[in-house]
Amino acid sequence: MRGGMGERLRSEVDDQFKLKDLNKNALNILKNNIKSEKKELIYAVLLTLVISGTNVVLPILTKIAIDDYISTKDFNGLVIVVVGYIALALVQWFATYKQTFLASKIGYTVLYSIREKLYKHLINLDIDFHNKHQVGDITSVIMNDVETIYSLISEGFIYLISDVVTLVAIATALFVLNLRLAVTLLITVPIILYSTKLIGNLLRKAQRDVRENIAQLTSGVEQNLSGIKTVKSFSGELSQASKVSELSEKSRNAQIKAVAISALHFPIIDLAGAIGMALIIWQGGMLLIQNIITLGVLMAAVSYARRIFGPLMDLSQIYTTYQTAGASLDRINSFLDNKQQVKFPAEGERSEDNYDIVIRNLTFGYDQDTIILENVYLDIEKGSHIGIVGKSGAGKSTFIKVLGRQYNPNRGEILIGGVPYQNYSKNEFKKILQILPQDTYLFPLTIWENITYGLKDKTLADVEELISKLELEDFFAKFENGLETKVGEEGKSLSGGQKQAVAIARAMIRDPEILILDEAASNLDSQIEKKIYKYIKTDWVEKTLIIVTHRVTSLDLTDKIYEVRDKGIFEISKEEIELAGWDQVTSEE
Ligand code: ADP
Repeated sequence: MRGGMGERLRSEVDDQFKLKDLNKNALNILKNNIKSEKKELIYAVLLTLVISGTNVVLPILTKIAIDDYISTKDFNGLVIVVVGYIALALVQWFATYKQTFLASKIGYTVLYSIREKLYKHLINLDIDFHNKHQVGDITSVIMNDVETIYSLISEGFIYLISDVVTLVAIATALFVLNLRLAVTLLITVPIILYSTKLIGNLLRKAQRDVRENIAQLTSGVEQNLSGIKTVKSFSGELSQASKVSELSEKSRNAQIKAVAISALHFPIIDLAGAIGMALIIWQGGMLLIQNIITLGVLMAAVSYARRIFGPLMDLSQIYTTYQTAGASLDRINSFLDNKQQVKFPAEGERSEDNYDIVIRNLTFGYDQDTIILENVYLDIEKGSHIGIVGKSGAGKSTFIKVLGRQYNPNRGEILIGGVPYQNYSKNEFKKILQILPQDTYLFPLTIWENITYGLKDKTLADVEELISKLELEDFFAKFENGLETKVGEEGKSLSGGQKQAVAIARAMIRDPEILILDEAASNLDSQIEKKIYKYIKTDWVEKTLIIVTHRVTSLDLTDKIYEVRDKGIFEISKEEIELAGWDQVTSEE
């Protein structure tokens, strides 16, 4: 799914995007990031003038050589003009090189600066933002949308100035040389502009089709591979495989169509240019025959005609560049508009070694209209081991997420150790409280590196010590290289239970004061679960443990059990759980 839909929607939205709708803030992103490049930008624009100047003067030198020296057989004069021509051509070469380099350099500098800021902004956003957006969409904005900024700055801005100045300068020079030739060349301008625009648009559309088809094919292959077990178990291989063949065929056809158009691209542009050139030679030739202009003027006009093709081709595509970049800037801006709701102070408060949790009048809903928890009061003393049960969808995970500062409460307060929990710095808060969700992500590193992830001061020896305290040496010894075993991509080589064991070790090595397991032991082998709980019972007496679970065995460890129900949290005894039939829920696990 990932890139697939995103890519298709992107190109559709790009085509419909109107530049006049571009948000002012979106333009500010560009302005703020280009500021540091101001000097280089001015330099690049000044070089534009040099390039345009040489574009005007070089054909004039041709005219002088022909009319003043070749026709009069003045050898010395001719040599001086030729040397001057070469010198000027060198200046033009250097200015073009420098300008191209600067345009790219500024483009890339701004691109990377925006990308870095956007990335930092997005990774610092609340978990809520990441829950609501697919990884593929976020990646697409960070990578693809930011990429268009490069074309906007180099082609859309610097080259635009260069092209416009060159065209105006050449047109002026032609008008001075001969009015009729100038008008003839101007007539060819719309022909060249129209044909390049037409072919450019056709090509763009064909390439877009190719991209969409490849994205669909990729997503088809990806979906089938990730769901291969399900496909096989339902014997649906044939129908799924034929879907991929269908997508593959569509993709091949789109690619062949694009090749047909792109093969036409340069010949058509050359043809338009040749027609323009033919008109100049025709008109110029007639003027020459009638002795109205000299051969030098005709040659200069031919040279000017050749020099306008490049800028005209650039200009024919400029609106597309602006439109694509505008749509991208708009998307970048809308992502930057997401603000962090959960904020941690840089310098937080501290508690004096007392980590009682006191919850007063807590109300929370993901949006104002659907309240999940209402007026909740709950005290959890330091060192207590609490179980949390409740029907599916009751709000257990929601409660844990609010307690773990993934969301701000709508109302009420949560104190940890007497300190409002939002007054702790991020580091301090993470030191105090660790949450383990049901789904575990393991990085493609070794098992012990996964356990110590982000902790620079912890070593393999520390992990071994913890594993030995947990009496899980045998469990980890089963892996090919023990703790040094590398976890496959996305943890695929580990079973659900093994992953959870690694995740629990990862949380425990951080030695938090409060550990929350949100169904995080549900896949553990019961032997392993027992060992971990034994350790918690004997060694974690001072620390608070909150377990959200469906397993009655997990509740053996707990001093108190609460049920989340009717937007509230109520204490419940084991007997009541049994009467309410929770154990039946458990036996299904
Ligand atoms: P439990 O953990 O008890 O199964 P949850 O806390 O996950 O229940 O969900 C409680 C309610 O909140 C459900 O109705 C669920 O649909 C809703 N919910 C959960 N997560 C979100 C979210 N990120 N945005 C909006 N609603 C959500």
